[in-house]
Amino acid sequence: MNGHSLCADAVDLAELGIGSHPPQELSSLTAPPLTPEHPRIRSAAVDSDSQQAALAAGSVVDPEIPVLTVADLGVLRRVQVHRDGSVDVDITPTYSGCPAIAAMSADIRRALADAGHPAVTVSTVLSPAWTTDDMTDTAREMLQRFGIAPPGPAPQAGPVALGLAVRCPQCGSRNTRERSRFGSTSCKSMWTCEDCSEPFDHFKAL
Ligand SMILES: [Zn+2]
Repeated sequence: MNGHSLCADAVDLAELGIGSHPPQELSSLTAPPLTPEHPRIRSAAVDSDSQQAALAAGSVVDPEIPVLTVADLGVLRRVQVHRDGSVDVDITPTYSGCPAIAAMSADIRRALADAGHPAVTVSTVLSPAWTTDDMTDTAREMLQRFGIAPPGPAPQAGPVALGLAVRCPQCGSRNTRERSRFGSTSCKSMWTCEDCSEPFDHFKAL
């Protein structure tokens, strides 16, 4: 573990039972390639000249959950290629104090250099703040396949919705129980599946 993750604290994959017994399919699990039609690429690229750079930047993955691209995470906000070839990139951190953002910035600069853009400025923008709703459906699907129950809709103002069952990422059962409001990291809670008895982490909606 290199200490970088989607959250402020490291995701302990071994604790999830992933590191100790990696299923065969997990090791070959990779983020699906991005296309110019990807909704986060379309919204980030300020013009058609910026599209290829947005694809290169957006393909960078979360350091510890390498099946999630920064595009699918909703972290990539804006990519602009200037006439001199220099690139401006805006990214938004997932959770406050998230150390992964530094690793992602470096990886974005590297990806753009490989794509022929050595002059890159990566800026961190805090507004509008990132929420779990910024994750694409692909991100949720990949989290699920990675063994982490994806977040539900972000909480709205008003009465808290009760009875939202969390689906077990191993067997799909909704017969699950929250064990701890705060799991291995502050952004996740620990759950156990009553049907397959497997413990798993759930990304809390934010
Ligand atoms: Zn289960």
